[in-house]
Amino acid sequence: MTQPRTPHSETSSPFPLAERRGRATVVEIRGVAIGGPELVLVAGPCSVESEQQLREAALAAHVAGARILRGGAFKPRTSPYAFQGLGEEGLALLRRIGDETGMAVVTEALDPTQVPLVASYADAIQIGSRNMHVAPLLRAAAASGLPVLLKRGMSATLEEFLLAAETILLEGNENIVLCERGIRTFDTYTRNCLDVGGIVALKRLTHLPVLADPSHATGRRELVVDTALAAVAAGADGLVVEAQADPWSALSDREQQLAPEELVELGDRVRRVALAVGRSLPGAQEETRLETAPPDGFVDRLREEISENDRGIVEAINTRLELVARMHSYKAAHGIAFRDARREQALLRSLQETNSGPLSAEGLEEILLALLDLTKREVA
Ligand code: PEP
Ligand code: MN
Repeated sequence: MTQPRTPHSETSSPFPLAERRGRATVVEIRGVAIGGPELVLVAGPCSVESEQQLREAALAAHVAGARILRGGAFKPRTSPYAFQGLGEEGLALLRRIGDETGMAVVTEALDPTQVPLVASYADAIQIGSRNMHVAPLLRAAAASGLPVLLKRGMSATLEEFLLAAETILLEGNENIVLCERGIRTFDTYTRNCLDVGGIVALKRLTHLPVLADPSHATGRRELVVDTALAAVAAGADGLVVEAQADPWSALSDREQQLAPEELVELGDRVRRVALAVGRSLPGAQEETRLETAPPDGFVDRLREEISENDRGIVEAINTRLELVARMHSYKAAHGIAFRDARREQALLRSLQETNSGPLSAEGLEEILLALLDLTKREVA
């Protein structure tokens, strides 16, 4: 290990190696430059859960303009009972699908002994918020020789964050990408608070590139896109965003992951803000779309899933009609009115309360009313 230097005798900065001094370092992760004029979008699921989940997430990420695939194989969960990740199987999936889609891969190592394994699959090592202060892990990540994506500790000051980067720099690894991912505040509405001023400050304090993670910063899907825009306007060099094809069934962080169309919207809107601040975000080129064409049978499989789901809907409607027909005979025999507006309102409210998918409240109302009208026509 390198002997600690005595920075204060040479310079007044507590982090002389990370200090800006007029420089701007561009870090390359498998050919993707971070810190140059082009913004970088890193996207993918919170956790790697299966081959299909990761492949669909990677394709969605790529279409939105992401060039780096993220996904946790070893998950730093706050609860020991929560899903802990697929481990090496997840790493292998990341590598395979990264190669398939032409994307670089970044994933987290939780402890120093894991670093060589993670490094044998990934293109960059992520140090998570919960581990930003763990010097042996920082040193092991540095020693891997791979770029390090260093996330800010959730209660770390900017100085502590930069001292963690300094620890890696001191080991001779200069390829560090910082990531502001939100800090703890008194507010509980958002999961964390994106430190936008901190992004501005970091860009002035250090030569290292700075990304922002609006997913963990907000913890709320509906806040992610606009928060991402704020980060880009503040000077972030790119974004780390959690997204997957079916965020509602994710095993971790399902409230904050974007669906593919939301990630595309994020890319489109970031592109416009990027232009306003003299940057750009590459889109999905026709060529890259071809290069990342879905694997054989992808469209057919998805189509079959949709058809299967539609068959289920028809079956459920038939069951409803049968049940209502029985109710209708009973009501007719007892002279009770067929439709009951109060019960319909109560049904709508209860469905809206339990609905946790992407269907909007208005959409749900529209469907229920259509279903009630149809039932009346078919049964009465
Ligand atoms: C992650 O990005 O996978 C993650 C766990 O985030 P954080 O370390 O910022 O909580
Ligand atoms: Mn997550």
